[in-house]
This record gives sequence, C-alpha cells and structure tokens, in this order.
Amino acid sequence: RGDRAEPVIPFAQPGSLTRVYAVASGKGGVGKSSVTVNLAAALADRGLKVGVLDADIYGHSVPRMLGNDAKPTQVEKMILPPMSHGVKFISIAQFTSGNTPVVWRGPMLHRALQQFLADVFWGDLDILLLDLPPGTGDVAISVAQLIPGAEILVVTTPQQAAAEVAERAGAIALQTRQKIMGVVENMSWMELPDGSRIEPFGSGGGARVSERLTVAVGAEVPLLGQIPLDTALREGGDEGMPLVLSAPDSAAGAALRQVADRL
Ligand code: ADP
Repeated sequence: RGDRAEPVIPFAQPGSLTRVYAVASGKGGVGKSSVTVNLAAALADRGLKVGVLDADIYGHSVPRMLGNDAKPTQVEKMILPPMSHGVKFISIAQFTSGNTPVVWRGPMLHRALQQFLADVFWGDLDILLLDLPPGTGDVAISVAQLIPGAEILVVTTPQQAAAEVAERAGAIALQTRQKIMGVVENMSWMELPDGSRIEPFGSGGGARVSERLTVAVGAEVPLLGQIPLDTALREGGDEGMPLVLSAPDSAAGAALRQVADRL
C-alpha cells in the first residue's frame, strides 16, 4: 500500500476552535473516568458541544458511565460517534466484542488514537476530553504528538502515594511542552450521616500536586476542585447517569460542576 499520507486530525489544525483536555492520572482507580464523564456532561448541560474520547484502552469505562453501549455507525470512511446526555463519545469498547480484554502494543494504541481523532466525525466541538490510561505511558506521548495543543488535567486522590505518581504523570507534560490546565482532587472526604467528615485517603494530595507542578513548569497549575466521596457518584457511574445531571446540587455534583466552569 503506497498511501503513507498522515491522517488529518482536525483538532491539530491551526485555527481549530476546539479545546482539547487530556485527563491523566498516575494510577488507576482514582476516579479519572468518573471525573471525565461528569465534566463532559456538565459542559454539555451548559450548552457546549462536547466529545469524549475513551483512550483508556485497558480500562475503558466511558460507555457504561454514559449509559450507552450503542456501536458507532459508519458512513463511507467516517465513524459517527453515539451521543449520550448530549456528549458524543467513542471508546475502544465499541470495537471489541463483549468483555474481550485489549492486549495491544504501543504502536497499535497510537494508531487507534490517531484513527479516533482523524476518522471519527466529531463535528464542530467546543471541547474534547480524552480519558487517558493511568500512568505515564505511550498514550500520553501519542496525544502530545497528535495534538500538541492538548492541555493536561491531572486527577489525584488526597493520598500522598497517589500524589507522587500523579506528579510524575503531570511532569510528562514538561517533556512534551504541553500546558497543564490544573489538578482535580477526587475522594477528598466523606460526609457521615451526622454531618461530620472523615478523610479515608488522608489530605493534601491535590494541593501537593498543584504546588509541585507549579514549581516544575514555572507557571500556575491550580487545584481546580476537591470532589468528596459520594455513593451516588459511583451508582451514577454504574447506571450511566452522571451525578452532575441527577444531583447537581449534591456536594460532589456541585464540586464537579464548579470544575467544569473553570475549563
Ligand atoms: P479511574 O478512571 O481512575 O480508574 P474510575 O472513575 O473508574 O477511576 O473510578 C473507580 C471507582 O471509584 C468507580 O467505581 C467509581 O464509580 C468510583 N468513584 C470514583 N470517584 C468517586 C467518588 N468521588 N465517590 C464515590 N465513588 C467514586
């Protein structure tokens, strides 16, 4: 096959009006996908045109969290993404059958990401959120190569050990010269029925990542918000109804909406 032309990625073209945020975390299970999906739903609810690209190839959970397991439709060479709660989304989950685990090598991940960016008909988006795999892996580098203007959003828990790895995930942006938009601390506290708060994961992780990255990049990397633990947030994820829509005034729902307002 002689066709070696690089696919055209609309978000990487000069003059593209779409803001692209790559949501990164140091490790899995900190709520990166939950935060991504809720931010997307909150932004769509505000009337913005929003897309989510589930690049968390190994732990893809975006379709479930958006409550839609529809397959994308294909028109000629373009892939039309399904839409749920006003959010267009594409996930590797839509291209595997059942729960087949994805065991891909780096270059294949790069190809998949490239295809999701170039061959999916996203339309004119205001915001595209990329749900990255945890860690400082190949995909983050690929994003930087494919969309140099993508900004990084780091999700961490308050736990010191989690903050350390989150810092490393953020620091990759130094090498790739990407802007770090800010830090979101998730699972910050839990409210007990008597109204008191406990901090199951300790405290300070988000502030620490924000301070360290601010020093590292030499520009303010703000802590954009602290999201409490909330059973309803987890249930909303399992049921495909983002908390920002079902309970916008709950502590976690309001905190997530506030972060969305700062993007
Ligand atoms: P990651 O994408 O970082 O692996 P997920 O978003 O999949 O993390 O979250 C891991 C689990 O924790 C999910 O079951 C999710 O519903 C739950 N979860 C995430 N954030 C919260 C929170 N603030 N309160 C309660 N459960 C949460």
